[in-house]
Amino acid sequence: MTAPGARGREAVMAYSGGTIDRASNQRTDPAFLGATLAAPGARLIPMWQDRCVVSGEPAVPAILAAAGAGAGAILEAAAETVFLGLDDDGGVFAADLSPLEESRAVELAGGDRALDVRGFVGTLRPPEAALLGYARGMLYWNRHQRYCGTCGSRTSSGHGGHLRSCQNPQCARLHFPKVEPAVIMLVESSRPPRRCLLARHRGSAPDGFSTLAGFVDVSESLEDAVRREVAEETGVVVETVTYLASQGWPFPSGLMVGFRATAVTEEITVDAEEVIEARWFTRGQLRELAASRGRLGREDSIGRYLLHSWLAETR
Ligand SMILES: [Zn+2]
Repeated sequence: MTAPGARGREAVMAYSGGTIDRASNQRTDPAFLGATLAAPGARLIPMWQDRCVVSGEPAVPAILAAAGAGAGAILEAAAETVFLGLDDDGGVFAADLSPLEESRAVELAGGDRALDVRGFVGTLRPPEAALLGYARGMLYWNRHQRYCGTCGSRTSSGHGGHLRSCQNPQCARLHFPKVEPAVIMLVESSRPPRRCLLARHRGSAPDGFSTLAGFVDVSESLEDAVRREVAEETGVVVETVTYLASQGWPFPSGLMVGFRATAVTEEITVDAEEVIEARWFTRGQLRELAASRGRLGREDSIGRYLLHSWLAETR
């Protein structure tokens, strides 16, 4: 089950709240990495083009003993092997089999198909979903950072896959994994009855209303991004913006930052580019929408958390 759990008063979203020790101080040491990979408890998560290799129904992801039969062939075939961290049994690594044919990658990893973690997250325990999301994000970044963005030379992997260094000695730029922040917000009316502002985006179903969201611009605060996105997409002016929760979103490299925002105007003017309709919903109307659609937001999304936490309030 991937519904938000809790760490104290903190809401924990799907793909977040992993329990692995990332051992970021140790992964800079090649001797540590070599010994960890060679130790009996080390495991390997093979992936193919952002997908897990899985078998059975419900899907069980392939996680192999790094010292076991077949793991050597995976390590040899992998374009990149990334150190994810340590758990109670030892080191956990992710191996990228993307250059192979899909069928060959699946066969090598002992699975029966390749499946994105979003396709079976509902059957995973939260720490498993967090680990597979982390593996997906790290392999994606390595695969898309093979060349230096400054001089175009090849880069090489370091720090267990958490650093890529330009191989051109004149440049020698260091590249670190990038995270792209996006804001997602539940906008609430300031006057009673309390209502929330939801929007329907281009291509969505006639009742496909969801929370507003958007990427953070360069040199923009998260709060300003909330105000700008709401104004651009709906014409509504918001003032108070309060942080609620965040979610690592490795699809491919996002960080969703969730807010509650209070509107000081209510008139809606949609931009008609991204948003084709926006509407204010009372809690009763939102419950009706949830009942007619059978759900409110995708199971693994922070948008669902924002909506459900608002519905749970009574003021
Ligand atoms: Zn360079």
